[in-house]
Amino acid sequence: MNRLAGKVAMITGAGRGIGAAIALAFAREGAAVALAELDIETAQATAERIAKEANSTRVVAIGTDVTQSASVKEAVAQTESAFGPLDVLVNNAGINVFCDPLTMTDEDWRRCFAVDLDGVWNGCRAALPGMVERGAGSIVNIASTHSFKIIPGCFPYPVAKHGVIGLTRALGIEYAPNNVRVNAIAPGYIETQLTLDWWNGQPDPQVARQATLDLQPMKRVGQPQEVALTAVFLASDEAPFINASCITIDGGRSALYHD
Ligand code: NDP
Repeated sequence: MNRLAGKVAMITGAGRGIGAAIALAFAREGAAVALAELDIETAQATAERIAKEANSTRVVAIGTDVTQSASVKEAVAQTESAFGPLDVLVNNAGINVFCDPLTMTDEDWRRCFAVDLDGVWNGCRAALPGMVERGAGSIVNIASTHSFKIIPGCFPYPVAKHGVIGLTRALGIEYAPNNVRVNAIAPGYIETQLTLDWWNGQPDPQVARQATLDLQPMKRVGQPQEVALTAVFLASDEAPFINASCITIDGGRSALYHD
């Protein structure tokens, strides 16, 4: 409790899934939280639930499209006018765009990069000036094990997610002298709507789910709150010398050669 007391945080794509779990964990640890989410109705419902569960009055939903730099800038401004200067930004919003490279359309390429890489940059771009000026801040970018590993047929998502690591490292180094830390989290399979949609899109969802579980050293996928625990740590003052790094949360899957 209270590991983020007095801090102000904005989390993108926080209407559901990993983002919602991070927002709840932050609120439980005493942070004021802004849910910057495309679907304002989902965001408002989630904000109400979080306020109740965390017993907090400092939770707000802000309609935000991370693909639009002006929208993200406005979300930071609204967060700061509600709660004060932003201490923590979590760039979580992301979408799966899984194509065959040569049949993928230009539109598929653009919508992937617009959310999965431009969206992260738009968040950093909006939050950094204030953090640099104040000489304090923590940015957490949600990358993926696709940032290091490739699954055929999942193009160009891993290209954008590799870029998130590059952006994290570049900005972490750039603003280290200003005491602004920029880190990433790379989740493996986490049970959210994103993952359910992928299983449900396979010819036999039950078989696809079981195949995923069979690949996992721990024989299970992760839960959103297991990612949130690490986000709390990176956002907090417990990680003052962790910068330009990435923490993988995949139950060991990416260390496995083969069974
Ligand atoms: P979900 O699809 O469950 O949630 C993503 C949220 O982001 C949704 O609320 C969605 O809103 C929102 N969003 C989408 N586009 C935008 C946008 N342009 N602006 C603002 N918000 C937007 O995904 P997860 O919780 O599973 O994923 C969260 C992050 O974690 C993503 O970056 C994903 O790539 C990453 N990740 C997830 C893994 C997993 O197994 N689940 C594994 C590795 C990484 P709406 O519903 O309105 O579209």
